Amino acid sequence: MIDLHVHSTESDGSLTPEQLVKQAVTAGLEALAIADHDTMAGYAPAAQVASASGIELVCAVEVSTRFERPGLGAKGVHLLGYFLNGSPGEEFLAWLRQQQQRRHHRNQRLAERLQQLGLEVSLEEVAALAGRLVGRVHFAQLMIRKGYVDSVAEAFQIYLGRGGAAYMPSEKPTVEEAIHKICEAGGLACIAHPGRLRFDLESALGGWKVQGLAGLEVFHSEHSGTQVAYLQELANRYELVVTGGSDFHGEGKPGVELGSGFRGNLRVERWVLEGLKEASERLIGARPGT
Ligand code: AMP
Ligand code: ZN
Ligand code: FE
Ligand code: FE
Repeated sequence: MIDLHVHSTESDGSLTPEQLVKQAVTAGLEALAIADHDTMAGYAPAAQVASASGIELVCAVEVSTRFERPGLGAKGVHLLGYFLNGSPGEEFLAWLRQQQQRRHHRNQRLAERLQQLGLEVSLEEVAALAGRLVGRVHFAQLMIRKGYVDSVAEAFQIYLGRGGAAYMPSEKPTVEEAIHKICEAGGLACIAHPGRLRFDLESALGGWKVQGLAGLEVFHSEHSGTQVAYLQELANRYELVVTGGSDFHGEGKPGVELGSGFRGNLRVERWVLEGLKEASERLIGARPGT
């Protein structure tokens, strides 16, 4: 069993990269990909522990993007980038830093809005309980500590989520731009948790495939059996590679377990990683000059 989508303390997970690797080994996983939001900083520290314990570590990232639909508005889409053939290079890392900067501006506006609403929530306090990257989950955690809400879910529902009183959209790259950046850096771009999308995925897939989309996260702890079957069929039809993971965040997402998802509803087999590796090799073979 493997898990190709987990979050560490480098974004909004509650376990450090090293702890994640150790827990994955204990859970009997053969491979693990830390796919933090907008950062790959967890890879190097995790790699040290992984090489000593025999688990295969895959370098990955999760990027938030927007899908602009003419006349229909924008929708959020998360993209996973898998780098199976070494480091993505400085240009991609600089692009990720740009996304972190956008996130920082969003966080500033979010904190201001919460203060306007009468909540004593400063960005400094939120940052103090986060790691290097501050996300909405950290805002939620501070709001729980201060007694403004009882749970992360409630914080999102009332304040932080879309439709919430303090919801602040961040300036995200378009899906197409993010696909290009991941491709250019030698990575495989895959749509994260497509089951969450609230628009017709099929109408978008053909275009994204032309842009360089490599795969779909068919297996995910939020996907029902029906969704998995549908997404698998879509992946076959559009010749997209399949990926899968729990989206484990530790305490940030209660109920979701590393490797096994929500009440054991997830099982990602080794063939998924083999498929990603084959796709990665094809991609490199298809590049001009190689
Ligand atoms: P951010 O990247 O800071 O915009 O925050 C995104 C994170 O918030 C993701 O890790 C999600 O898991 C989490 N999230 C989004 N919506 C909700 C929700 N309704 N309840 C709990 N967590 C959420
Ligand atoms: Zn997250
Ligand atoms: Fe996501
Ligand atoms: Fe995620």
